[in-house]
Amino acid sequence: MGPTTDDLPRHAAQKQFPVQDDCLQLGGVLLTRLAERVGRTPFYAYERDHIRSRVELLRRVLPEGVLLHYAMKANPMPAVVQLMAGLVDGFDIASAGEMKTALDAGMRPSCIGFAGPGKSNAELRAAVAAGVLLHLESEEEMQRVAAVGELLGITPRVAVRVNPDFELKHAGMKMAGGARQFGVDAARVPAMLRRLGRLGLDFHGFHLFCGAQNLSAAAICEAQRLSVALALELAEFAPSPLRALNIGGGLGVPYFPGERALDLAAVADGLDATMRALRRERPDTRLILEMGRYLVAEAGIYVCRVIERKHSHGQLFLITDGGMHQHLAASGNFGQVIRKNYPVAIGNRVHGGARETVSVVGPLCTPLDLLADRVELARADVGDLVVVFQSGAYGLTASPTAFLGHPAPLEVLV
Ligand SMILES: *Cc1c(COP(=O)(O)O)cnc(C)c1O
Repeated sequence: MGPTTDDLPRHAAQKQFPVQDDCLQLGGVLLTRLAERVGRTPFYAYERDHIRSRVELLRRVLPEGVLLHYAMKANPMPAVVQLMAGLVDGFDIASAGEMKTALDAGMRPSCIGFAGPGKSNAELRAAVAAGVLLHLESEEEMQRVAAVGELLGITPRVAVRVNPDFELKHAGMKMAGGARQFGVDAARVPAMLRRLGRLGLDFHGFHLFCGAQNLSAAAICEAQRLSVALALELAEFAPSPLRALNIGGGLGVPYFPGERALDLAAVADGLDATMRALRRERPDTRLILEMGRYLVAEAGIYVCRVIERKHSHGQLFLITDGGMHQHLAASGNFGQVIRKNYPVAIGNRVHGGARETVSVVGPLCTPLDLLADRVELARADVGDLVVVFQSGAYGLTASPTAFLGHPAPLEVLV
C-alpha cells in the first residue's frame, strides 16, 4: 500500500487556509475565482496576511531586541520582497540580482547583508558602491573587497562569515562544521581579523549560519548558544567593537507526513538565555536572526490543472499542466534523499464526495516529473485544480523552468 492521507494535508488544507463551499480560499478569494483572475494555470499564489502574521508571531514570541532579516533566496518575487521591506529589519542577499530587488523595494543598504561564496568582482564593486554589508567568505575575498574599496574611494562595510567547528544537529541542510565552501574556518579567523584591521575595512561583526530546515528547537537553541559563544571569543581579535552578530536561523517548516511544526516558544526560551549571555559581555551588539522559508513557505501554494485522468496497470494518474520544471522541491529533486510527498489537495473540492488514490504528474517526458505519489484525494475531473501546499519558499526560482520549453508559471501575491 502506498502512502495515504495523513494529518498534514488535511491540516494544511483545512486550517492553514479557510475552505468555503469545499473550495480553498486565499486572501479571502475563492481559488476558482483566483484562477480566473490569474488567467492561466499553473501559478504560485502567496497570501499577504499569512506572511504578515508570521512576522508578527515572531515579534511577539522572540526576545525583545532580536532583529529579523529575510533571506531573499527563499522567495525573491518583487511584490513579496516589497511586502517584507515593511515588515522585517533587514534582508540577506546572495547575488547582485537580489541586491537590485532589495534596493528597489526600498530596503536601506545598511540593513542588507550580502553573503555567498564566489562573489564576482563586478558584484563586489556594486555592493561596495551601494553600501551594503559584505559577509566575507574567505581571506581572498577580503583582499578583493579591499582593492575595490581603494579603487572606488569608499570604505567597504564588512562582516566575517565564520565556519564554526560545530554543526547544526537535525538540520535538513547542513551549512557549517567540517569542510565547507561557506565562511572562514573558525581557527583562521583571528589572523584574518588582524589583516582586516590593517586593510582599513569597516568591521561590523560576524555571520554564522549552521544549517536550514530544522524542526528541533533544542538543536536550534544549542547552535545559537554555541554561535554566540564562538563570536564572543573571536571578537577579542577584532579591530573594532562587535556591532552586529548574525547567527542565522535554520527554523524549519513541516513538509512531510509525520513532521511536526517547530516549537517556537522553546526556540524563544533558548534565545532569551543566549541573548542575555551576549548582553552581559557586549551590551551594544545587535543580534540578528535571518530566515527564509519560516517566513514564506507556508504562505504559498502552487496550483496546476488536471489535463487528463489516466489508468495504467491498476494505478490512476492525474496528468496536470504543472510539474517538476516549475516546482522541483515538490517533485523530491531539491535535496531530498528519500522522496516524500508535499501536502496536496484538489483545491476546488477539498473534501469532495468520493475519494481515490492517485499519483499527480506533469507533462514532462521523465519519470522524475512526479508531484505526488499515490495520495488519497477527492475524486478529480479534468479541469480541476491541484494545489501543492507549503510552496511559498524555494518554488519557482529553485526550479528548472526552461526544461522542456513550457512557459513559466505566474506568481501572485493575494
Ligand atoms: C539559504 C539561507 C538562508 C535561509 O534559509 P531558510 O531555510 O530558508 O530559512 C539564510 N541564511 C543563509 C546564509 C542562507 O544561505
